[in-house]
Amino acid sequence: MTFESIKSFLKKVGPLAGLPPEEWQQLEKPDRVLKAELRVGGKKYPAYRVQYNQARGPYKGGIRFHPQVSQDEVVSLAFWMTLKTAVADLPFGGGKGGVQVDPKRLSLREIEELSRAYIRAFYKYLGPQQDIPAPDVYTTPQIMAWMRNEYEKLTGKPAPGVITGKPPEYGGSLVRDIATALGGVYVLEEVLRKVPLKGKRIAIQGFGNAGMNIAKLLYGRGYTVVAISDSKGGVYNQDGLDPKKAEEIKKGGGMLGCYCLGTVCQLEQIPLDGPCRHVSNEELLELPVDILIPAALENVIHSGNAAKIKATIILELANGPVTPEAAEILHKKRVIVVPDVLANAGGVAVSYFEWVQNNLGEQWSKQEVKQKLQQKMSKAFEQVWEEYIQLKRYDLRTAAYIVALKKIAAARKSKQ
Ligand code: GLU
Repeated sequence: MTFESIKSFLKKVGPLAGLPPEEWQQLEKPDRVLKAELRVGGKKYPAYRVQYNQARGPYKGGIRFHPQVSQDEVVSLAFWMTLKTAVADLPFGGGKGGVQVDPKRLSLREIEELSRAYIRAFYKYLGPQQDIPAPDVYTTPQIMAWMRNEYEKLTGKPAPGVITGKPPEYGGSLVRDIATALGGVYVLEEVLRKVPLKGKRIAIQGFGNAGMNIAKLLYGRGYTVVAISDSKGGVYNQDGLDPKKAEEIKKGGGMLGCYCLGTVCQLEQIPLDGPCRHVSNEELLELPVDILIPAALENVIHSGNAAKIKATIILELANGPVTPEAAEILHKKRVIVVPDVLANAGGVAVSYFEWVQNNLGEQWSKQEVKQKLQQKMSKAFEQVWEEYIQLKRYDLRTAAYIVALKKIAAARKSKQ
């Protein structure tokens, strides 16, 4: 979704939420767009931090390192964070960061330099009560650790709560590593209670933190994961896949399609037909499955392929994978799209738990974090579902946006 389409969506949803125009119009632009150019290894990389809205608390949202990062994208992502923290009832506003870089072309040392340079550029605007970054596409717990360390060096004080998604041994929360995926599982299970499906065949696009972990979690819970992919393409096995084995092949340097051979292989050896075969990222979306989980990047389901989708439920584990045009087509086809601001809020929910633990100087057990996450996700789902039932003609995304807009407006009102 581009920033322009966010504005038009607000125009549609604002009145449905029964709010006066000034309430949603104040969400039409971010509070602050910060920009810098980071220099590493003789090259310059454009970097952004967008602080969108803080009606409900400090700005919160991840930082991505990706070649396609642009100001427009970071602004859109920061807007979504504003809604996401509201949907999940976290005491945060919304923000987002990004660096336009292909981290796969950098050495580990250069990634460290870039991460530290990012903090040097923006640290005056960050802080545990001000703006709290976190991981996003291609940023890791190690990167969060470097960033926390750089922030503390610059400010001269310990500040574990300045960033979340840190390694557990350096102020991170247990379960944060799988939180986006686990939150998605909890939401999916709530959806399936309302919309029971006969089959449980699943295709997952994306094999990063979110995609790989949800594949493993769902496999462990008895779902049949028939297809997975990463940026190089994927594998489809009619009889189901074991994501752990696929992960081993990927770690060994093989493409996911090598799964069919059971070992790391050459590109030419991957079967192109038969019961287990190579599948492109585009084909994966159109496979005959019950549940489709886009867990990679934005805009992959668009007006050109929406009509060909066969899944009954789409769980948006990535941010913005379904374009507004596609959402309309899917709604007419009665495909249920569980929107990103609900489906992937598990990541930021456990970020919130991490921040609370940092503030209290505590470390909670895995079981405690999982239990709290389940409660948060179920409550968020219930609120969105209730709105959805009342609305009747609209989709779950519209319902989620309404829930969020009402909460943001209520917070603003209490301050006046
Ligand atoms: N990057 C994640 C998201 O888009 C997590 C953000 C956070 O933990 O603050 O929701």
